[in-house]
Amino acid sequence: MINPDTPISELPGIGPVRRAAFEKLGIFCAKDLIMHFPRGYQHRGDVKMLSDTGLGENSAFILTVGTIPRTETISRQKRMSITRFNAFDESGKVSVVFFNRPYLSRDRVFEVGERYRFYGKLTKYNNKLTLNSPIFEPYKEGVPLPAFVPIYPLTAGLKQKFTASCIEGVITAFERNPDIYEPISEGIRRKTGICGFIEAARAIHFPESYEDIDKGRRYFVFSELLKFALCIESIKSENTSFSYNIAEFTDTERLADEFTSALNFTLTGAQKRAIADISADLSSGSRMDRLIYGDVGSGKTICAVAAAYLAAKNGWQTAFLVPTEVLAAQHYANIEPMLAKAGIKTALLTGSVKPSQKKIIYQDLENGEIDVCIGTHALLSEGVGFRRLGLTITDEQHRFGVRQRSTLTQQTLHEISPHILVMSATPIPRTLALIIYGDLKSSAIDELPPGRKKIDTFVVNSGYHERLIAFIKKLTDEGQQVYVICPAVGALAEELSEDDLVGGEIIPFPDSADSPRDGTGEIKSAIKYGQTLREELPELKIGILHGKMSSSEKESVMDSFAAGETQLLVATTVIEVGIDVPNATLMIVENAERFGLSQLHQLRGRVGRGKQKSYCVLVSDTKSETAVRRLSIMKETNDGFKIAETDLSMRGPGEFLPRRDGGAMQHGVSDFGITMSTDTETLNLAMDIARELLSYDPKLERPENKLLGKEIQHKLNSNIAALN
Ligand code: ADP
Ligand code: MG
Repeated sequence: MINPDTPISELPGIGPVRRAAFEKLGIFCAKDLIMHFPRGYQHRGDVKMLSDTGLGENSAFILTVGTIPRTETISRQKRMSITRFNAFDESGKVSVVFFNRPYLSRDRVFEVGERYRFYGKLTKYNNKLTLNSPIFEPYKEGVPLPAFVPIYPLTAGLKQKFTASCIEGVITAFERNPDIYEPISEGIRRKTGICGFIEAARAIHFPESYEDIDKGRRYFVFSELLKFALCIESIKSENTSFSYNIAEFTDTERLADEFTSALNFTLTGAQKRAIADISADLSSGSRMDRLIYGDVGSGKTICAVAAAYLAAKNGWQTAFLVPTEVLAAQHYANIEPMLAKAGIKTALLTGSVKPSQKKIIYQDLENGEIDVCIGTHALLSEGVGFRRLGLTITDEQHRFGVRQRSTLTQQTLHEISPHILVMSATPIPRTLALIIYGDLKSSAIDELPPGRKKIDTFVVNSGYHERLIAFIKKLTDEGQQVYVICPAVGALAEELSEDDLVGGEIIPFPDSADSPRDGTGEIKSAIKYGQTLREELPELKIGILHGKMSSSEKESVMDSFAAGETQLLVATTVIEVGIDVPNATLMIVENAERFGLSQLHQLRGRVGRGKQKSYCVLVSDTKSETAVRRLSIMKETNDGFKIAETDLSMRGPGEFLPRRDGGAMQHGVSDFGITMSTDTETLNLAMDIARELLSYDPKLERPENKLLGKEIQHKLNSNIAALN
């Protein structure tokens, strides 16, 4: 009997190879399969007549096979073959063509006189109407075929049909025993008007109508939001429920002045206010819990450095946690000399530091030699113990798990709780900020350092390629530098499965970030596109940067870009956060529709940091209206908060929530299995329900909430695991 925890290897048809492929997608058990939602649907229910259908459109046809399929070899060397036959409906006939699928004729897959539903694009070839590599299903009168066919995000080794059949199998098994899994109690379901788990699962995977899709989405969106709300609420109560000895600070105001006046530039008013807030918090006698939020480039780092300075001067150590190695290295390069002048010792601790070096750092942290330690997740690993940790700073907080704030706290060797400062460059819509950071005080850096110019933003299609190349030449001739961002790392084949490439119009989730893959718009990968650009721009030095490189490789590529040795950097979103190269003036984002707005805003923030005029070009061939609308907002405003609000209303909070992989994010992958598009109303509803639930069942122990409680606990724990 299949239950939610049945390992996928025990499901029919899943051997070691497919199992490995599923695991790559984060699918380990039967329930994970159900939580693997389609990224969209093919609408095959709208059957057309051959004569009524324009060329180049994806449509469904019901056709009778007219001739026996025959396979010819076209190229022996390349082992290319073509299989064709004629098929017809009342309105006309068409030549159906498949490449490299000789088994279609050999195994007599098609019988003359039988009917099939085909789905594909009509083209003209040699003046003959042609259906090229369509999807097909046997058609029997009176036996309806599904109108909507789910399309899943897949990986090499998995096929759509097979994946759908696995999911269908699990759903059917669950349907026989509907009580097997239901985290949301009946009371809550009644109150919020959502259906049950298994009904929602059937509806979202195998919908018969748009209403079904909606019904399914409502359930999963609400249940994820509820879990999210419960996590946040539990952490808040955890954080406030025990009492600490606070790291004591004195003389902070004078020290802050000392720090500020030693700088060789003038702080903005907003920066001064933030530093004043920090210095007041630190000497207030209770623990600082402060969020500094402000747009990209607003100068948050220096406020954090000020806090570290106050700590060191008070004899406390600071842990400065950042999401990526590249950013850690950059911070170290900036901050170390600044603090060294004041006799403060800074160290860099990342996963790529040699074990022997690590050992020394561990020792120096333990004996208090090191005042400030900048690092990635490595800072959170076991074995790292501070002698006198008085302050933890987290940069780009939104990249970390929800619980990170308490994690470092538990690592101190003494019984004193450090002060907490978090920074976020993703301007968080106010509604969401209240929910996520409700227990934090915040300082807004709402003023940019002087001299910043507006970044001109353009949205173009790939037809502009030549002009873009010319523009790159012009800017680099003038000594400026350029970023090109691609959504994928390596060769396409690695990331997309074979039948994912077949194409076909896909109805994305309403307003979801996953824009339909048009079949025309190639997904650019940093490695491949970097090579192309090297060929097109032989006179330029071009660096390639992506998350699959080793840290030392990444570092050397970044270093040579920062030093101006390479003029163009082709990268994935590894550079999304925090990188600061003032000489870079052009940001090009390929397949821009695949990114969230806030992410695009972050990327755009990589330019416009120097004195020169800067530009951002978003390249997209998307035909989705929603995607076009989203991108055009980038043209209209440079205001991160407006952009964040739009993202929230068009895509839901997914973008702002902690990510499962704590950093090396893929678009649309959040801690939540579904790309959420929802209104703040649903979010507020989830928060209300969560609070109410916790007020009468604080540990979620009642029978109807037990399963939910178990999942919340798991989520909280895995957030920590994700950080290590
Ligand atoms: P973010 O808020 O995105 O983390 P940073 O702290 O990296 O921004 O600052 C962006 C750039 O602005 C850095 O090069 C920094 O040195 C510079 N900067 C910060 N504050 C000021 C200021 N008051 N005047 C001039 N430049 C500043
Ligand atoms: Mg920053």
